[in-house]
Amino acid sequence: MDSSRRKFLKIAGISAVAGIGAPSALNMLMKNEVRASSEGGGHGAQTDAHGGEGAHGAAPAPAGKRYGMVIDAVKFHDNNGLAEKCIEACHSYFNVPDFGNKKDEIKWLWQMPFANTFPGDESHYKKDDRTHSMQFMVLCNHCDNPPCVRACPTKATFKNADGIVMMDFHRCIGCRFCMAACPYGARSFNWRDPRGSKDGVPFIKKINHEFPTRMRGVVEKCSFCDLRVKRGLQPLCVEATAGTGAMVFGDLNDPNSEVSQVLRARFTIQRKPSLGTMPSVFYII
Ligand code: SF4
Ligand code: SF4
Ligand code: SF4
Repeated sequence: MDSSRRKFLKIAGISAVAGIGAPSALNMLMKNEVRASSEGGGHGAQTDAHGGEGAHGAAPAPAGKRYGMVIDAVKFHDNNGLAEKCIEACHSYFNVPDFGNKKDEIKWLWQMPFANTFPGDESHYKKDDRTHSMQFMVLCNHCDNPPCVRACPTKATFKNADGIVMMDFHRCIGCRFCMAACPYGARSFNWRDPRGSKDGVPFIKKINHEFPTRMRGVVEKCSFCDLRVKRGLQPLCVEATAGTGAMVFGDLNDPNSEVSQVLRARFTIQRKPSLGTMPSVFYII
């Protein structure tokens, strides 16, 4: 355990919650934090998501980089097997364990139906059977105003200079405040040791030694492939869609980037934009 973890546990005097089972009172505090953020943020309703300057959540004048992604749900719908290919590219590289049951599931990239992805918007599309039948690729939104970062007591989760919401696994004490604060369910907790196995079947099929495995009691999520992006490469899931245009990734603050051009040209929506989190993932539906 590193010093930051020890320090937090000592000062807070709540070492009992550091592993499993954050008390409901503290969860409530975190929920209040999210509520406060939604009241204060107010970056606009769904219909604001695609329009004009500051469209990416009505942010003030952009400074530095802010990476984001556009996901074309129709292209995924029309390309059988594309979603699975992307998920496999992500989960195999990042050593995402498969514990073999939904309850303990670790997800970096997955699919959800419309009603779960965009709750509250069902009525807008009541008569559109195709949209309702589609599955949507979901991942961490790398929010510009991320409540998970504010909730983290150890700075194990933080936003980097490129607008990517990162995880430092070594600083994570497993309190799960970030999970309570994230309104998208984008974070997963390792209830079991991902390096372990059941009945001789390892939870990680084939370990990729280029990326660290995690341990029990640690939270994880999509990293927007930050290390690849730093090297000028596309995220692995985006690369897996090459030639289809189903995913476009780039700097939202660069008006000439492909992602900015797509956002200018196409109508897109974000997940739960009224919460004020300012998601950096947009959907063409
Ligand atoms: S989607 Fe959730 S985990 Fe990702 S940055 Fe937003 S609040 Fe944090
Ligand atoms: S990343 Fe989440 S679980 Fe880990 S210390 Fe921060 S709030 Fe707690
Ligand atoms: S951006 Fe990278 S880490 Fe995130 S879902 Fe895609 S492949 Fe996985």
